[in-house]
Amino acid sequence: MQRYANLRPNMARLWETLERSAGIGATPRGGLARLALSEDDGQMRRLFQGWCEDAGLKVAVDPIGNMFAFRPGRDKDGKAVLLGSHLDTQIKGGRFDGILGVLAGLEVVRTLNEHDIETRLPLCVVNWTNEEGARFEPPMIGSAVFTGDKSLDFALSRTDKDGITLGAALEAIGFSGTQAQSPEHFDSLFELHIEQGPKLDESRTQLGIVTGAFAVRGFVVEVLGETGHVGPTPMPKRHNALVGAAHVTLAIEETGWALHPTGGKSTTMRLKAEPNLLGILPDRVEMTCDMRHPDDAVVSRAMADFTRRIPELEAKSRCTIRIHEGWSYGGMEFDKDRVGLVRTAAENFGYSHADMLTEAGHDAMHIANHLPAAMIFTPCEGGLSHNELENVTIADIEPGVNVLLQAVLARAG
Ligand SMILES: [Zn+2]
Repeated sequence: MQRYANLRPNMARLWETLERSAGIGATPRGGLARLALSEDDGQMRRLFQGWCEDAGLKVAVDPIGNMFAFRPGRDKDGKAVLLGSHLDTQIKGGRFDGILGVLAGLEVVRTLNEHDIETRLPLCVVNWTNEEGARFEPPMIGSAVFTGDKSLDFALSRTDKDGITLGAALEAIGFSGTQAQSPEHFDSLFELHIEQGPKLDESRTQLGIVTGAFAVRGFVVEVLGETGHVGPTPMPKRHNALVGAAHVTLAIEETGWALHPTGGKSTTMRLKAEPNLLGILPDRVEMTCDMRHPDDAVVSRAMADFTRRIPELEAKSRCTIRIHEGWSYGGMEFDKDRVGLVRTAAENFGYSHADMLTEAGHDAMHIANHLPAAMIFTPCEGGLSHNELENVTIADIEPGVNVLLQAVLARAG
């Protein structure tokens, strides 16, 4: 491994691929709206596949559309080291979220090719399907099918807002594959990603070494009221579901501030009101909320405290409020050995680095329960992400790409 300590990826070439990607699904403000399995996602996937094939990789597509681009190793029966992330974006997304991890993986392979370096273990650049969950819920569904955490049938039957199933969307762009893959055939995963928060940028730290993930609890709150005319119905006779939703939102916000001193947060992120019409009191509101904290026990406690407040919120709003079970993920640690390879590489370069937990969801979190995984964060301007103005410079990402290359080389031999 020492032998290749001077090996450097070609940052100009990587940047060019990022620019090409930024042209597919571009928004007027310089971001991307490349929803999973859209026409644009299909176009990006074909471009990525072409680049992989030009680099001598064999691309396999599994039934949920995850793309695996294999580079053989000396050890013919060796398990492949995965490196990658996702190429889909939010509807008002940035041009680096996820994309950097996939295209940096490609750049690692191109660099090895250029120097005729054959690793002992095979390498595999991966693009996970529907990481964002902006079109099909839940997010990170491609990696969840790969690990067996979600069934293929469940995933293929998810629908978007127009009623199109994920399965039909995969067929439409030609990425419904037949080459199923499973974790036991892989060695580990390295995912490079922008931080999506301000810590690295504000502290001028070059790298985040991600040791684990925040515990995340998502849930749906249903508020039930009664329809009525907004004119004649007197104030004391109203059961306005939106008023209940307002009280719930404030309670969730208070929970967030209570969690804040120890690093936690709590969010109401979506609200659907019915019938949502002029002149009529809404009788039903569905809200999607989430709580996050480094400590799973603290999230559980916050959730219990919020649940205890429901009768008070019902009384204030004269509505019925129900909490429906949602989802949870995170709260895990990444593999100490693979994280150690990342740290060693960072130290060998002399980069400033900080251990941190990821506060956002990432495919690597699903994978980490099945395969040794590690994540590397690069700073992003102002910590802005899931935003069209998301931005990084070559100088921001170069340490991360260098470390990715060296950590993967150290592991793959
Ligand atoms: Zn991402």
